[in-house]
This record gives sequence, C-alpha cells and structure tokens, in this order.
Amino acid sequence: MSRDPVDGGAASNGPVAVVTGAASGIGRATATALAVRGHRVALLDRDGPGASALARALTDQGTDARAYVCDVTDTADVEAAVSDVGRRWGRIDAVAACAGIEVLGDVASLSDQAWNRALDVNAGGVLRLARATVPFLVETRGAFVAVASDAGVTGAQGYAAYAASKHAVVGLVRCMALDHGPAGVRSNVVCPAFVETPMAERIFADSDPGERDFYRRAVPLGRFARPEEVASAIVHLLSAEASYSNGMVYRVDGGSTAGYYVGNAAG
Ligand code: NAD
Repeated sequence: MSRDPVDGGAASNGPVAVVTGAASGIGRATATALAVRGHRVALLDRDGPGASALARALTDQGTDARAYVCDVTDTADVEAAVSDVGRRWGRIDAVAACAGIEVLGDVASLSDQAWNRALDVNAGGVLRLARATVPFLVETRGAFVAVASDAGVTGAQGYAAYAASKHAVVGLVRCMALDHGPAGVRSNVVCPAFVETPMAERIFADSDPGERDFYRRAVPLGRFARPEEVASAIVHLLSAEASYSNGMVYRVDGGSTAGYYVGNAAG
C-alpha cells in the first residue's frame, strides 16, 4: 500500500516534498505546513537567502529541510535541484508549484518581453517542475499541485498576460491528471483570489488608491486570504485525504468567482 504522502513518518524518514516559490508568501506557508505534517522539504526559489532562512528555521524545529537556489525558467536549475533531492532522500511524494510573478497590462500595453516572461515563469515553471518530478511521483503514487489564480478561471482586467499564463496552468494540470492519473499520480490546481503576500502588496503599492478596497469588497467573505489558508488547501490536495481528487480546479477565493456579488459594493 502506498504511504500517505502528507501524514506519514518522522522527519528522518518521512515523505519528501518539493516546493517552488518557497521563500515567500504561499510557497513559504505551504512548505511550513508540509513540514508540520512530517515531510522532509526541498525549498526551491530564485531567492536563495529567503529559501535558506526558511530552511534554517524549519531545521531548528526538527524538520529535514534543504534550500535550493533555483530559477524555474531555467531547465537545468530545476533538473539539478530535483535530481539532488532524489539522490539525497530517494523519493518524492508531494510537489507544490507555487513560484509565480505578477505581470500587469492590457494587450495594448503589453510588450513581447512581458508576455514571454509571464508565460515562461508562471506556466513554463510548472511544466519544468512537473517534467522533472513526475517520474518520482510515479514511483510513490504521489501528488502534484500547482497554484494558478482566480485569473486562471476568469478574465482579470489589466492582467492579460498573467491571466493567460494562469489559464495555461489550469490546462496543463488538467492534462497531467489525464496523462498520469493512470499511473496513480494525482494532479490538481488551486486558484486563489487576492492573498496577503508580498505579491499582493507590490500590486496594491502600484495601483490606484481604493483598488485594494474595491477588490476586498468583491469577496463575499469580506477579506483577502491569508497564505496559510491557501497552503491548507494545497496540503489537503497533496494528502491521502484527497485520494479521489484528480484534475480538480479548487477555488480558494472566498466566493469571489462564484457569481456576481453586489452585497459589499457600498462598503
Ligand atoms: P510572492 O511574491 O510572495 O512569492 C513568490 C515566490 O516565487 C517568491 O519567493 C519568488 O522569489 C519566487 N519566484 C518568482 N519567480 C521565480 C522564478 N523564476 N524561479 C523561482 N522562484 C521564483 O507571491 P505569492 O503571492 O506567494 O504567489 C505565489 C503564487 O500564488 C504565484 O504563482 C501567484 O501567481 C499565485 N497567486 C497569488 C495571489 C496573491 O494575491 N498573492 C493570488 C492568486 C494567485
């Protein structure tokens, strides 16, 4: 019987997780939650100091954690990190693709460079991680989760390249569910709306005054998500508790894409 990829084992021989974007925000919260659930964790991020700081903090708490400086747009970087995880720990049970960037602009203002960058990091990064890790997940009958966005299931005004890249992630992960489900690998995608992370802070720092409040009022639950709330959805989908979830698009958005919502419009 396959081991529960989330709940099993002590830190020294527990299941192994690979998380990209682990230095910040949702990736950081996901890596931390997986460590709490008994995983050994590989922390991949282009921000080496940030990933190392989390590795030290988790190690101090008794988790076997290791940081990798890894740019998800660089195939060699991703393959080197995943190979090292395989050599070091001998298995990979759970993979969370959280690395991503915000790219703003409508089609009239988007440069080719901005478009290519959005697609390369947000969608290409998921592809590179999946390609490197699926062979390991086949061995463990493990699970893969990618973070897309509410902009992966609806349009988003002023986010043409970002939304296109996140729609690509949803399509990619649905195909993974079909292609690798028969081998026992479950693939799912999580779609948050705004989450209180450095990414959201950067977006609102550059936006018109009042935009933060507009988006907050558009959420039926009346607030943005905390990164830990998205992490717990990711951890659930990676766990045996979600053993029949495959190809699912899991919206963690407080109801903001459930339909037109005017209830909070007046603030
Ligand atoms: P964040 O900026 O706090 O963290 C993103 C992390 O990804 C950073 O540590 C960064 O260094 C890393 N990263 C970026 N480009 C990379 C690259 N090329 N290679 C390796 N690492 C790279 O952002 P976040 O809010 O935690 O976002 C995590 C994911 O959630 C992203 O995919 C984002 O698009 C998605 N998301 C965020 C929100 C939100 O409101 N924060 C909403 C919906 C979806």
